[in-house]
Amino acid sequence: MIIDLEKLKDLDLKAFFFDMDGVLFDSMSNHAKAWCSAFDDLGIEFSAYDAYMREGMTGASTIRDAFTRQLGRDASEEECKRIYKVKSHYFESLPPAVPMEHVLDVLKTVKAAGLDIFLVTGSGQVSLLDKLNYFFPNIFHREKMVTAFDVKKGKPDPEPYLMALKKGGYEKNQAIVVENAPLGVRSAVSAGIFTIAVNTGILEDKELSGNGAGVIYSKMQELYTELPEIIKRSKMIDL
Ligand code: MG
Repeated sequence: MIIDLEKLKDLDLKAFFFDMDGVLFDSMSNHAKAWCSAFDDLGIEFSAYDAYMREGMTGASTIRDAFTRQLGRDASEEECKRIYKVKSHYFESLPPAVPMEHVLDVLKTVKAAGLDIFLVTGSGQVSLLDKLNYFFPNIFHREKMVTAFDVKKGKPDPEPYLMALKKGGYEKNQAIVVENAPLGVRSAVSAGIFTIAVNTGILEDKELSGNGAGVIYSKMQELYTELPEIIKRSKMIDL
């Protein structure tokens, strides 16, 4: 995929903002399996593609959406809680997700270039930082994270990425986002930030380009290969 180099020229790059599920960890297939099983128990049709398309939505929104589509009615709060519990149970019964291949190389390259690194995730796992430090030592810091605990609206609203800009004291042309999900891309693009999509899942590229991704890679390795050039061209130096 050819990058629009003209767009990178407008950047004064200081930081990279990374999404977590489907970017740092290869966790989306587990989420999709768990959602499919939970809905299957209720006789509600819900495909893996449906799950990937809704990545980033809250659990309750996903459930209410499926109810409206399939049953023609909204889900109650009690139903949302119960079904989300079932989904979580299925999710926890699956083998834990491992880091995305080559993402540590990407993180190390960003760090070595002297750029700041933020995590921007809708996840609210309490042990998040421990897990990040275990797999990616000395890369992530507590004060450089935006999680489910920080935001009111969450993705696809621009709020999480705007908050990361604010926490870092950066302008929107001083960061690049790395995302994998349509709603995550929409959130970042709505915040006015150049967004690299890595299509690590099963979706068609058009779901990501349609939400405004500046460039789409099919694998993390592709991003890793092109990263030095992206960084060089985003640092407001005369070429
Ligand atoms: Mg993601």
